[in-house]
Amino acid sequence: MAGQSAELSPLLKQATPVLAARGSGVYVYDEDDRRFLDFTAGIGVTSTGHCHPKVVEAAQEQVATLIHGQYTTVMHRPLLRLTERLGDVLPQGVDRLFYVNSGSEAVEAALRLARQATGRQNAIVFQGSFHGRTMGAASLTTSGVKIRAGIGPLVPGVAVSPFPYAYRLGMSEDEAVDYALRELDYLLATVSSPRDTAAIFVEPVLGEGGYVPAPPAFLRGLWERADEHGILLVLDEVQTGFGRTGTFWGHDHAGVRPDVVITAKGLASGFPLSAIAAPAELMERGWPGSQGGTYGGNAVACAAALATLDVIEEEGLVDNAAEQGERLRKGLQQVADRSPAIGDVRGLGLMLGSEFTTPDGAPDAETANRAHRAAADAGLLLLTCGPYGNVVRMIPPLVVSADQVDAAVEIWGDVIDGLD
Ligand code: PMP
Repeated sequence: MAGQSAELSPLLKQATPVLAARGSGVYVYDEDDRRFLDFTAGIGVTSTGHCHPKVVEAAQEQVATLIHGQYTTVMHRPLLRLTERLGDVLPQGVDRLFYVNSGSEAVEAALRLARQATGRQNAIVFQGSFHGRTMGAASLTTSGVKIRAGIGPLVPGVAVSPFPYAYRLGMSEDEAVDYALRELDYLLATVSSPRDTAAIFVEPVLGEGGYVPAPPAFLRGLWERADEHGILLVLDEVQTGFGRTGTFWGHDHAGVRPDVVITAKGLASGFPLSAIAAPAELMERGWPGSQGGTYGGNAVACAAALATLDVIEEEGLVDNAAEQGERLRKGLQQVADRSPAIGDVRGLGLMLGSEFTTPDGAPDAETANRAHRAAADAGLLLLTCGPYGNVVRMIPPLVVSADQVDAAVEIWGDVIDGLD
């Protein structure tokens, strides 16, 4: 016996000093029973709220029945039931599912499938995109250099095109879309031939990259180009899926049909579960047995996901996300209107960001961080994001009520008014 007391690695960077003891609905409580409004939802995961009774009950029942079936060895009923059920919410025809554990793993699975199915190697991503931290997913990620720095060489064959980030480009939304699509065409003509390009990966709302919604015309432009060249359109719905943006999928706002949907986070209310979905004819072009992992499609996580879908439907959480999202947006805009520190408020549904800028319009991470810390001190948990770390984001559970939105806006207003 070494007789030592191990400690956490300094690799960990924690956004708030809170030591959470329990969670209920939109609140987490620390060990002194201090209550915090959790507008992080565990980075967009606990959409049904912390410890929703139906999710707890389903998971407890499954824990006592079968914890780990291991679906490449023995199949189990929760996974079959979940697969059938997800058919109700997936885009028409995008209905063959493969399960893994995390967003990053699902992105890896989509990249493997895209390369195997098309026989092409390249992937196109957009500036500010976040697809994960595993090697393949990090190679697709450009939301901040910390994800890529010091770990190269990364997976080759990734080309990066501008995202229509209208505010930072100083353009109208239409101009930004025209610009981004023109640059994409240029990339396809000069860097990544359509004949070499397996897939375009895109988030319906840039998440870690600053909460910038993809304008519908941009997503439709990607769809047209993907369709024309036989390139797969892969929608990374890890953060935007399951009602987060006020429609079931983030891409519903644009009316495009993806070839592959990647989902995780809100899928299982906090249990590790993720999936890729694609049409049968596409999945059939992948190589059987080349994908998977020990814990993929865990039985307890699948049972929790089934209960999550029930709660989303029974409690009308998609509509609630749209309604409360609008209320929150208005509140954040009012706060921004009286503060020179916030240059832009944007987002979709309950995925909203406030971008901090200096008087001359430069990104201001320092003030964003101060506001973020002051909000935590005042009992409101938030996250920052953006390539410059200058966007404070709100991503509460989808069960949030009007009163809770108002309470968060009040705290946020006091925090911003108190900035010197
Ligand atoms: N894709 C997107 C859009 C994400 O927001 C995230 C996580 N923030 C990931 C992929 C990676 O997911 P995970 O952290 O579960 O690996």
